[in-house]
Amino acid sequence: RSSGESLLSIINDLLDFAKAEAGKLGLLPVPFRAATLLKSVVAMMESLARGKGLDLRLKFMGGLDAVIVADEARLRQVLVNIIGNAVKFTARGSVEVRVAYAAAARRVAFEVQDTGIGISPLDLERIFAPFSQADSSTTRKYGGTGLGLAISQRIVEALGGKIVARSELGKGSTFAFEIDVGEPAA
Ligand code: ADP
Repeated sequence: RSSGESLLSIINDLLDFAKAEAGKLGLLPVPFRAATLLKSVVAMMESLARGKGLDLRLKFMGGLDAVIVADEARLRQVLVNIIGNAVKFTARGSVEVRVAYAAAARRVAFEVQDTGIGISPLDLERIFAPFSQADSSTTRKYGGTGLGLAISQRIVEALGGKIVARSELGKGSTFAFEIDVGEPAA
């Protein structure tokens, strides 16, 4: 079953990447509460983080109980990738997810900060490129295809935002992105 699941996740990554490249992500905006989505993604990561002794924290900065309109499934996919990476590449310390809603600008900003292995300045330039991992030992040690961030970047752009990473080798990394959201029709 676990082989089947890892194969499925590789196939899904390849399909999503191909779709994004063809400009065919096909967004499906729906109304939802950001707080509910965030809590569910964090709950999903909780046992993995706890198993590693990591402190996984979620911090809301205002207004997130409001109903917003965006492609919830694609946003979830980005959050699972970014938070999943933070947990995966951190052996000690914490992963903090910060979310802020700028209601007037109708934008939601996300930041995921970890105290993990970090990324060198050179690697930072290429991790968003498809099939790129920080170094060749990464696949052996951590698995993965190197497609997650390439897909996340394209999804975030399709959602009207940009994704950036800051990091210091050995100290940790922060991934930040914003998306445009609509308001539900009255
Ligand atoms: P994958 O996780 O499948 O390797 P990604 O595209 O999600 O692919 O990530 C690409 C690479 O970026 C990873 O292999 C890793 O080297 C680096 N990376 C991503 N997130 C982090 C993080 N939080 N800390 C350290 N390195 C990271």
